[in-house]
Parts: sequence; structure tokens; C-alpha cells
Amino acid sequence: MKRDKALIFEMSRPGRVAYSLPESDVPECDAAADIPVHLLRRQPAALPEVYEVDVIRHYTELSRRNFGVDNGFYPLGSCTMKYNPKLNEEAARLAGFASIHPYQPEESIQGALELLYTLQQDLAELTGMDQMTLQPAAGAHGEWTGLMLIRAYHESRGEKRTKVIVPDSSHGTNPASATAAGFETITIPSNSKGLVDLDRLRAAAGPDTAALMLTNPNTLGLFEEQIVEIAAIVHEAGGLLYYDGANSNAIMGIARPGDMGFDVVHLNLHKTMSTPHGGGGPGAGPVGVKSRLIPFLPRPIVSRREDGTYYWDYDRPQSIGRVKAYYGNFGILVRAYAYIRSYGPEGLRRVSECAVLNANYMLKRLAPYFDVPYPGICKHEFVLSGRRLKAYGVRTLDVAKRLLDFGYHPPTIYFPLNVEECLMIEPTETESKETMDAFIDTMIRIVHEAQSDPQLLLDAPHTTVVKRLNETQAARKPVLNCTCG
Ligand SMILES: *Cc1c(COP(=O)(O)O)cnc(C)c1O
Repeated sequence: MKRDKALIFEMSRPGRVAYSLPESDVPECDAAADIPVHLLRRQPAALPEVYEVDVIRHYTELSRRNFGVDNGFYPLGSCTMKYNPKLNEEAARLAGFASIHPYQPEESIQGALELLYTLQQDLAELTGMDQMTLQPAAGAHGEWTGLMLIRAYHESRGEKRTKVIVPDSSHGTNPASATAAGFETITIPSNSKGLVDLDRLRAAAGPDTAALMLTNPNTLGLFEEQIVEIAAIVHEAGGLLYYDGANSNAIMGIARPGDMGFDVVHLNLHKTMSTPHGGGGPGAGPVGVKSRLIPFLPRPIVSRREDGTYYWDYDRPQSIGRVKAYYGNFGILVRAYAYIRSYGPEGLRRVSECAVLNANYMLKRLAPYFDVPYPGICKHEFVLSGRRLKAYGVRTLDVAKRLLDFGYHPPTIYFPLNVEECLMIEPTETESKETMDAFIDTMIRIVHEAQSDPQLLLDAPHTTVVKRLNETQAARKPVLNCTCG
């Protein structure tokens, strides 16, 4: 592919600088005298030499090519790309939070510790769990942490349980985390309603079952109505229930995993609780547990003394140890705290009600134009199948590419894996009816285009800086230097 824009290194001209500093009046130190020879840099670093204005233009231009939720609608199912109130960004930047150091003595960071303690309590309340750890840095990290807790629990009882059951609609991180935690994954197919098949679950559960990993509502946006029976089957077999709460936008203040029978939960604060995400981090994937798993939680946990002061509790002999340097991604935790406190319990419930209402509105309006594999009421997201368009030689991927021409981030496509030509749409609660209507009208227009001019979709996108990319070449043949011309 030909690049349309020079790299900053190509713009470099010897001697150009982007700063003007006064002459140094400090004598140059003899670096060579103090630095071990093998660490001395022989050549100056190869940095681009450009004017300040060129640096600014270059990076501002690149930033404009990026798409984020602050640019437009981003209905990426299973990712909850909601608008993040800027107030919470400000809270995280307050000097008292942003400028403290993890090695500071406890008495000098009582406010930060109180915030973490309160957040632990709030998240435990929201999920129906007895205790939380705030250490994990992402959803997948939370899953792995939760599975290590489950492993430690079974081992402490002298049981060797090696298998983790996941439904075929599960997020890819579930089997990956189970494998990374040393378990074998058993995948069970969903029933015709897109829910866990109880007979298949009964057949799979047994004395070697460590846990069932489930997300509810599941990745089809459907609520597992038989969750109480599901929990009973797994518990009777001696296993535990793991709740993938990456997407809790449908249930806040309405239903709690702890009440459904789950023993371990992780949340993605960067999806549900106001941290911008999508660029690779940082995130936060706190894990909550029922009381029988508390002894194994990572250490330290923030605790409160009788006198009302807070401290790091390291005295946890059965702990699985630390899962992250220091105490978690603190700035993300501040945002989540600000989010929870500014909405309050009623507000959080309203968030979930509106997220579900928005998804159902979009489903209803789009249903005549696509196949709906699992009709009925959805939760915060829903799936459509674009298989009808195959008659015109058009696939879901082409619909997604065409949406780029209209300034939308496409929905998730080809996930979950159990729906042919899948499109997974999640509007979130922060979008107006006008925004959703405009998107729906565009989708309908694209369906008509597929019928009248399929080539238009096959060649899309037409208006973006980069046209259609080869979907696999970058993964199969990575070119990792900047001389690729
Ligand atoms: C996003 C997501 C995850 C993984 O979260 P990361 O923070 O990206 O690791 C896990 N499960 C579900 C259902 C998700 O949507």
C-alpha cells in the first residue's frame, strides 16, 4: 500500500529544532567517567529534526484520522462505547490523585485509600459480592485472576478439578483465560433460543468441573432465564460459577450476579464506568468474590481500622499473591468512583434501563431488513444476521466497510461465532433518538444499495484516507519498520 503522507522521520532536515533554550551555563559533565562503558551510547539517538509547527501539524493531522466516541456514533457490540463524561476525566486529573506516588506512606494518602475502599464497597454492592480486588488491569486479566482464585479454592480443599465449561457464545477471552490459568476448556453448544442448553450442561458437569464461565446477559444480548437452575447444576457438581461482567450495562441496579448464584465476577470499568477505551488501555477489571473465596484474593486489599483510618492489608496468608505492580490502574478507579457517585444508585439503574430501551428500539426498526436469529426482547445489545444479502454477493463485512463512508464506526461483525454473517449492535444509553434514527436510516440505505449496486459495497470504503485493507495480511506478514514505502 502506498502511503499518502510522509513520516515524521522523512520530514527531518539536519539542524532543525522545535525548541529554543538558553545557552547552558552549567559545565558539561563527563558522562563517560560515570557511566559504564557498555551502556554508553556511541552515536546520538536518531530522532527527527523538524520545526515545532511541523511536529504540531503532523500529529494533529494524524489524530484527526482517528475515530472515537467523541467523533461519532460507535455501536460496537460487546464493547460498550458509551460517551464518557468529561467531569470524570477532571476528577482523575486532580493533583491529589494524579501526583501521588505508590510508595507514599499510608497516612499521607488517606483520601486515595478511602476512595479505593469505597469503590470496593460500591462494586461489591452492585454485583452482590462480599469482597473485591481492584488490582486487575483489564477484563481478561480479571478473568485470569478469578480463575486463579477458583483454582486456589479447589486446591485448598484437596480437590483436583481441571475443567472449565464455556458456552459457544462466550467471549474469546474466556477460553483463553481458562487455558492461561492451566485449565482445560469444554465448550457447550447453545440451544435454539441462544441460551445455555441445560441437558448439555448436565452432561458436561462432573467431579472434574472447576467452573462454568458465563456472561448474563450473554453475548447475544439475551438474559439466561434459567440461571438459577444453571447455578444449581454447577454447584451440585462441586464447581463454581464465574460471571464475565465485562458488559454490565444492562443490569446495574436491576439484577446482581451474586443473587443469581455466581461466586466470582469481574467488571470492565473501562466499558461500563466511564473510561475511554479501544486504544489498548489502560483499563481496570476488578474481581469480586463470595465469602468462601475471600482468603485467596490478591494482596494487598484496602481495609479500614476501627478508628476510621485506612491501610493496605498484606496479612493474607492464603492469597494468590499480587497480580499487578502496585494497586491497579488508580486513575481508572478514580473515574469509576466519580461515575458511580455522580449517578448514584437511581442514576445507575436509569443508565441500564435506557441502554436496554435504546437497543430494543434499534432492534425493532432494523428487524424488517435483516434476519433476527433470536427474536424477542434484547438487553443492552442485539445481533442481526446479514445472510440475506449473500444473494447479492454482499457480506456483512461489506456493510461494515460501507458504514465508514457515512462517518460511523461499524458494529461488531462475525461475533458471536454461533451466528452466520453476524452483526452485533450496542447503542448504549448515551445516544439520542436522532443519532440512532440517522444510523438506522443509513443501514436501510445500505441494504437498498446492496440490492441495486452491490459493487458500491464491495469497493467500500470510498471516502476514508485508507481504502479497503487486506484483513489478514498485517497479521500474517507484519512489516514492522518504517521503510516500507
Ligand atoms: C471486552 C470483553 C472482555 C475482555 O475485556 P478486556 O478488558 O478487553 O480484556 C471479556 N468478556 C467480554 C464479554 C467482553 O465484552
